[in-house]
Amino acid sequence: MKCPSCGQENKTGTRLCKKCGRDVTLAPSWFPGWKWHLKTLAVIYAALVVVFFAAHWLLRKLPPPYNMRTIPAELTPWLYPHKTPAP
Ligand SMILES: [Zn+2]
Repeated sequence: MKCPSCGQENKTGTRLCKKCGRDVTLAPSWFPGWKWHLKTLAVIYAALVVVFFAAHWLLRKLPPPYNMRTIPAELTPWLYPHKTPAP
């Protein structure tokens, strides 16, 4: 078992490093730095922006809902009183 701190080779099953005294049973912990956070947040925000525009584009391709479609003016002449119907 190799010490993660000093690299000293220890006997398997030892709890402490014989050279530096570090606990070799603990897994080496990883602490993300500010660069890791910046990169991760940039990836998340970029993915959100891409997903937003992809969803926007896909929804624009769909026909509008029934209650939002424009009805032709000749079907609803009472809505356009200024227009005189053709004789
Ligand atoms: Zn050590």
